[in-house]
Amino acid sequence: MWRIFRRDAVEVLHDERARASLARYFAVMSDEKPAKFMIAKRLPAEFDENGSLEELWLEHEKLTEEFYRLQDALDSGRKSLDDLELPEKSYLDLKIAIANKILEKCHFCNRRCGVNRLKGELGYCKCGTEIAVSSIFEHIGEEPELVPSGTIFTMGCTIRCLHCQNWTICVTGDSLVLLSNGTLIEISRLFDESVNGGLREIHGSLCVPADLSVFSVDESAKIVADFCRGVSKRISSDLIEIRTQTGRKITVTPNHLLYTCYNGLIIPVPAKELKEGDFIATIRFIPDIKGSPAINIGNPVPKVSYKITPPTAISPELCRIIGYLLGDGHIYVNERKEIYEIVFTNTDQDLLEDYINCFKRVFGLAPRVLKRDRIFRAIVRSVDVFNFLREVTPQLLVQSKLREVPPIIMQADNSMVTSFLKGIFDSKATINSRSGEIALYSTNEKLLVQIQTLLCRYGIISQFRLISRKKKKRIERTYKLLITGEDVSRYNLFIGFTSSEKIRKLEKIGVLKASPREHIDVIPNISDLLRDLRTRLRLTQHDVGSLIKGYRHLECKNRPFPRSKLKEMVLFFDERLRSIEELNQRLTKPDWNIIKYCMKTLNISQREIASILNISHSLVKYYMYKESLSAKKFLDKLSAATRCILSSILSDKILLENLSKLKVLVNADILWDKIVKISKLNEKTWVYDIMVQNTNRFIANGFLVHNSQWFESGEIYTPRRLATAIENLRRAGCRNANLVGGEPTPWLEQWLETFKLVNVNIPVVWNSNSYYSEETAKLLAGFVDVYLLDFKYGPFECSKRISDAPNYWDVCTRNHIYGKRYGELIVRVLVLPNHLECCTKHILKWIADNLGRNTRTNVMFQYRPEWRAYEVPELRRRLTAKEMERAIELAKETGLTNFIT
Ligand code: SF4
Ligand SMILES: [Zn+2]
Repeated sequence: MWRIFRRDAVEVLHDERARASLARYFAVMSDEKPAKFMIAKRLPAEFDENGSLEELWLEHEKLTEEFYRLQDALDSGRKSLDDLELPEKSYLDLKIAIANKILEKCHFCNRRCGVNRLKGELGYCKCGTEIAVSSIFEHIGEEPELVPSGTIFTMGCTIRCLHCQNWTICVTGDSLVLLSNGTLIEISRLFDESVNGGLREIHGSLCVPADLSVFSVDESAKIVADFCRGVSKRISSDLIEIRTQTGRKITVTPNHLLYTCYNGLIIPVPAKELKEGDFIATIRFIPDIKGSPAINIGNPVPKVSYKITPPTAISPELCRIIGYLLGDGHIYVNERKEIYEIVFTNTDQDLLEDYINCFKRVFGLAPRVLKRDRIFRAIVRSVDVFNFLREVTPQLLVQSKLREVPPIIMQADNSMVTSFLKGIFDSKATINSRSGEIALYSTNEKLLVQIQTLLCRYGIISQFRLISRKKKKRIERTYKLLITGEDVSRYNLFIGFTSSEKIRKLEKIGVLKASPREHIDVIPNISDLLRDLRTRLRLTQHDVGSLIKGYRHLECKNRPFPRSKLKEMVLFFDERLRSIEELNQRLTKPDWNIIKYCMKTLNISQREIASILNISHSLVKYYMYKESLSAKKFLDKLSAATRCILSSILSDKILLENLSKLKVLVNADILWDKIVKISKLNEKTWVYDIMVQNTNRFIANGFLVHNSQWFESGEIYTPRRLATAIENLRRAGCRNANLVGGEPTPWLEQWLETFKLVNVNIPVVWNSNSYYSEETAKLLAGFVDVYLLDFKYGPFECSKRISDAPNYWDVCTRNHIYGKRYGELIVRVLVLPNHLECCTKHILKWIADNLGRNTRTNVMFQYRPEWRAYEVPELRRRLTAKEMERAIELAKETGLTNFIT
């Protein structure tokens, strides 16, 4: 997928300047040379762990020189890594021993806190002894040469930038989170309702613990319940609004991860990387909810005493009454005159009768019916019914544009929801027989979002539309929920209507037009996967085309694939595998017919057989033509060659893996919704996020979104688990292991331990703020392949004022020199507003003068005011075009030849 989003990551492989600066990195990336940590494991070391730190450093200094001599020998081919035995103690072990000693009096970074972290003391970074990881994923937002980057985000940082962007993963407060009891609740309300649990400010965000069960999506793309352990909020002024084809809408911060599908994998992508036309994950299906049928009444104080016997359990009739009242109901109250009227108005006699029957069964009361101008009004005057509704469904008592689906319905099981939906659709929906659509209108957006969510219980896909009309100089907004095509049949099958007029209209729709669902319920970006599977199963496009109409077109043009067609393909591929297995059996007793049949159906050519048997094509042709008894011996050979092809298909692990990926997508509870509009918003507002325990995902406004983990939290990883995660990233195609933070420095000991256990060749990228001690710089030599170092501030007071990092210039310049000496370097210069002359200018000049004009430098313009940036007046805005131009001018003036922006 990164190939689509990041064309530059493909092109950079041919960029000579990048290749010159990062020659060894490119070689390690393509497995032509070993990563430094692999060499460090093979370099023998002699030392005593209990010796003094000075003694260990002396040995380290000696071995560092030896390491680089060994690396030269390996790189030039004079030696091979395979010839080097794993020593009892290695250079990497020596580094671990030193790092352990540093932990006793911590000085990994320039703060030199001196705390004994092994004894539980915490320094400025608050990092302990176990590495806390916030997320691990294939990052496609880094410099092109690094993408896709196997990125490990850890907790804790050694500086405090007031414009820190680590808090950028959030959604706006009105986003509706789907709880696992079926309720949709505004994320801001989740925060407000959890505040009693104890509010904490963690680096600019207000965080509260929570204990909630939310819906999420697991690895097999199924909706599951997960735990929400906390809610946080902070101010942001940089937002992206995304609208999709089905009318869903979400507003998120630019780094917020949403999910897309590429080559059968479900992959997180930052919102800022998405573009119109991309497909992102929304929910398609929600499993049935086992809600409790009991109704709690009489709970509020003062207790209500009923003269009638109010229902104590939810029933389909009660649900239908709620549906009718939400659609066409009205509750009239005059406390002074003690009038409490529940009124249902409709023109349809069937509905009126059904409403009256339901009412009698639920409350034992018969509504009085008035008729005027073909309009029926069913009226019940009862303080008891009113009190019941006030307690159980207060959402019906407000004005119609504020009405919502009551929680009693959202939390009910499907049999109840069916009855409710029938009530509201019967009373409120319109059916257009010509277009084959069912439409539901409301001025309340949330009500329709709730109904859209309820329809997901039946796998019914609905679309949301906003209709704006100018009325008396005011813009009137109405929302429309639309069910079309095949989903109308689903609606009819699972829910249906009571009104005979509506039933008739639905029948009239009859054979529906070409189902638009084919264009809505699709799986994007799977052409490569399908092509791969098809060829592995030895099928031609024509073979598949005879089953799936238009297959060739879909495969060649990488068109989104309709789920229904993909389902057929999966069955077809499964069947193909079964028939290959059967043929393989039959070939144990070969005859000419079966071999010929095999060759025909599996598209095996005589030439292919000839090459397996290492004989000439004409000989195969001759014997196959003869088919005589004299060719019996050859028949056995031919059968063996054919079985060889069959067995290779049956044991093809990639084929089976790709087929199971397809099965996951076909059965996924996800709808891949096309983005139709992306807008950037610049309004200062509160943004929210929740912390989800296992899946790190949740559902907001129907979208599947990634969560963020609190700064102080994160998941504890053992070095073994982290090593496996790194190996998996490499196997998934990542170009490197990108050690990020917070800041990777406090975790150096754990990183060294981890890489001792990593057994794949992967370049190590040290993605740091550059504020680490000289000791750390020495330990990184012979371990880190690429130093991805921030250079944030010039030689003045800016670093102290903005990042609480005194002496930054000296520390940072020293570490860049170490980086260049011991590895390859990419320097990141974040241009800050109004800091071009005091910072950017000095930094770029220093780089050109001290690291060389061809230093790979990323002049970054992505600064935006985040977190507490508002405390620094000049940081309250983004860069102006003039400032960006000036930064480029400065880079050119200094003579830098290898900078990117
Ligand atoms: S890593 Fe730095 S901030 Fe953290 S405890 Fe060590 S010296 Fe202090
Ligand atoms: Zn400055």
